[in-house]
Amino acid sequence: MKKGTILSGMRPTGKMHLGHLHGALLNWKQLQEQYRCFYFIADWHALTSEYAHPDIIRESTYDIIIDWISVGLDPDVSTFFIQSDIKEHAELYLLFSMFTPLPWLERNPTYKEQLNELSQKNVYTYGFLGYPVLQAADILMYKANGVPVGEDQAPHVELTREIARRFNHLYREVFPVPEVLLTPTSKILGLDRRKMSKSYGNAIFLTDSDQEIDTKVSQMITDPQRARKSDPGDPAICNVFTFHEIYSAAETVETIRNDCTTAAIGCVACKRLMAEGLKKGLEPIRAKRRELESDMGKVKEIMADGNQRSRAIAQATMEEVREAVKI
Ligand code: SF4
Repeated sequence: MKKGTILSGMRPTGKMHLGHLHGALLNWKQLQEQYRCFYFIADWHALTSEYAHPDIIRESTYDIIIDWISVGLDPDVSTFFIQSDIKEHAELYLLFSMFTPLPWLERNPTYKEQLNELSQKNVYTYGFLGYPVLQAADILMYKANGVPVGEDQAPHVELTREIARRFNHLYREVFPVPEVLLTPTSKILGLDRRKMSKSYGNAIFLTDSDQEIDTKVSQMITDPQRARKSDPGDPAICNVFTFHEIYSAAETVETIRNDCTTAAIGCVACKRLMAEGLKKGLEPIRAKRRELESDMGKVKEIMADGNQRSRAIAQATMEEVREAVKI
């Protein structure tokens, strides 16, 4: 018996990296055992910032779906869909925009942060400001009870809750008010110890070759206090050690912890060991990816099936909505 319905999506703006894997996908994989899950490709959301260069959206869409399946999301258990294939989302977004007060959007802290983060792009647009209204339409269309998000996205879900309450109050009770399911923050950082991100150029991608992984791992910043091999290191502040904790065997982790603090191992050797564990850990994901890439017909069938199941639900919700709004 599943606990309820949840929905989450990803913007197709590039390849998936380890930050996505440990920050969202492995959590999604666990959630699919407990909830009825809808996972979607948020291509209209991607367009709010990539409207001038939309090629990346089409290129990334199937790349991301392949990664989802490769890491263990199961299309027979969860439902996958592509947002722009379910046109009902656009209609619900429009109806919600009629009664969403502008100050709700303008005061949203995530909006202000993203304006700063995306300062190199012109995102002073109607679509970008209205992003959370479209997100509310995505979530409420499937009457989700929960939305798994990182802390930075929590204000958006708060807005969805307000929109659901306002709709129910103005017309009639159609939507549940969804809860935020906070995703634990990933401890994995990028090569330079900042948050892992494609735009920072510090990411290890799920599609990286062995050689690319070796090169990237060799560039990783370690304990910044450890200048020479003879200096003892501190694994607690070393990103390489965080990777060891995930990708190396328990006894290797203990040996590294001891050898680092006693300066019995240098960072070059330590990184090599970690890279071996990382490549081994990613191999099943890469093998599954190769299998799917050789059968794109099957991947497209999976998406067509998910789209069809989602569309049926969206159509039923919109019938209720139109009846409630009397339009
Ligand atoms: S030996 Fe390993 S854990 Fe210690 S500082 Fe160097 S890379 Fe980090």
